[in-house]
Amino acid sequence: KAKALGESSYQFFEPEMSVEARRRLQIEAALRRALELGQFELYYQPRIDVRTLRLRGVEVLLRWTHPELGRVPPLEFIPIAEERGHIEAIGKWVLREACRVGKRLGDKYGTMLHVSVNVSARQLRSADLVTEVEQALRDAGFPPCALELELTESALIDDTEQSVDVLRRLKRLGVTLALDDFGTGYSSLSYLKRFPVDVLKLDRSFFLEQSLDANGDEFVSALVHMAHALGLKVVAEGIETEDVMESLRACRCDEAQGYLFARPMALPEFDKFLQSGVSGVLAA
Ligand code: C2E
Ligand code: MG
Ligand code: MG
Ligand code: MG
Repeated sequence: KAKALGESSYQFFEPEMSVEARRRLQIEAALRRALELGQFELYYQPRIDVRTLRLRGVEVLLRWTHPELGRVPPLEFIPIAEERGHIEAIGKWVLREACRVGKRLGDKYGTMLHVSVNVSARQLRSADLVTEVEQALRDAGFPPCALELELTESALIDDTEQSVDVLRRLKRLGVTLALDDFGTGYSSLSYLKRFPVDVLKLDRSFFLEQSLDANGDEFVSALVHMAHALGLKVVAEGIETEDVMESLRACRCDEAQGYLFARPMALPEFDKFLQSGVSGVLAA
């Protein structure tokens, strides 16, 4: 009996533990203190008007650099942060930082900078989200109409009643809501009717060459039509080529975001981007 117990508790530290399992444990442990150690940073990716090519806004994207693990991609650490219950605190920091920077840059360049922030399912489910958004806006002196929250369909899929209620309260604050990654996974057109969103972000999988070849143009065009009929603005994600840009124009897509225009940038670089474009790219 004792031996069996010894064996099973020994197993956890097995040297043959898979590389992935080890990395996951490392990430879990490191995430616990990442916020207080100041290891997070926001990156900024411009959103461009398809017709005028002017800057319409910016999406903030979270970056984590750990001294030993290096740069850990959001797609790797965010699900873990959600699972381990860290995303609420991290998400709150992102919101506050985004509003603060949005206010500062808007003032600096005499414009209203529209800032989009990704919000995870767990944040949406927490009762505090509305209060936190309100506080972040107030503390930064950032106008609610300049803040957009991006939600994924998977965030809305469970707990529909509660989600709709939170979304309504957010809208009452005056913030804009976007449905992110539309076209992946759970996609259902009924979401567009059920949830009070203002913006539809078409996932970049729509704009890969092979999907555009296979009647993708008509498909995107039909989606844009429908979204417009419902009063939504359409943003295309992951735009990398002029060709795709051309078809976005044909489809009457409103805005585009992608490496063709700019990669996500650290703050100093984004500031320079704004500086160089003050006469040209800043929307009136
Ligand atoms: P997302 O919100 O759909 O963000 C767009 C992702 O596409 C970003 O990846 C961005 O860097 C990438 N991207 C932009 N343009 C292009 C392009 O032209 N080509 C390609 N291949 N990729 C492009 P990133 O920064 O790695 O973020 C991944 C995801 O992590 C985000 O997807 C979002 O779901 C999540 N995320 C990022 N920051 C936050 C955050 O602060 N909070 C939460 N909850 N999630 C976040
Ligand atoms: Mg997003
Ligand atoms: Mg997206
Ligand atoms: Mg995406």
